[in-house]
Amino acid sequence: MKKKEEKDFRRLHGQLVIDFVNSETSEEAINGYFRNLERIFGFLNNFVKSAKDSFPDDGRKIVGQFQKEFRRILEYISQHGKLYGDLTIKKLLWTYNTSARPFIDKVLCVLPDDSFAEVNRDGMEQDFINRSDTLWINLFQLSLTYCLIEFLKYNKGKDYIKKCFHCHGFFIAKILRKNNNFCSRKCQQAAYHSQKEVKEKKAKAKRDLHGWKRRVNEE
Ligand SMILES: [Zn+2]
Repeated sequence: MKKKEEKDFRRLHGQLVIDFVNSETSEEAINGYFRNLERIFGFLNNFVKSAKDSFPDDGRKIVGQFQKEFRRILEYISQHGKLYGDLTIKKLLWTYNTSARPFIDKVLCVLPDDSFAEVNRDGMEQDFINRSDTLWINLFQLSLTYCLIEFLKYNKGKDYIKKCFHCHGFFIAKILRKNNNFCSRKCQQAAYHSQKEVKEKKAKAKRDLHGWKRRVNEE
């Protein structure tokens, strides 16, 4: 895989976790999760529908549970920027090393440029179809852990995970800069306008106060 392709591919892994955590409803989280899995693992087109059909209605509560857990992890990474010695990261690695094995065994695969390579086995379509409710818990744990570690592993991925100052959603920075504070131009502009509004309100309050003081003095 070329360097740029590798970078985009790793980015997708991080994006899966970020989209999952940022989703406002479990429906949105599940849709994004299956769509991202399809892209990462090259699943066939009807995968999203088949996986969603197999996903139990009462499985949606585990989505909330994992959103919470991984939000905490992203929060930690975006704030501290240090992985070494942290218990949460240790636990994540432990899951990766022990349970995520089916996801990380090497297999022969065809790459987007039609070349062959030994790559991670990755998830298989059938891992996600016709699962029982309890197995879904493992599957979420494994796939989210696997994707996050794969992202962090590559090129100091941790430095790219940021939290937006305006919408508080997580995002992956395109390039590393000091002021990587907003996930989008939209958020940057919205923050600028609300800041301006606050300033104007303060200025108006000050003017009103002065006017009031003046009137009091004149009376
Ligand atoms: Zn934002």
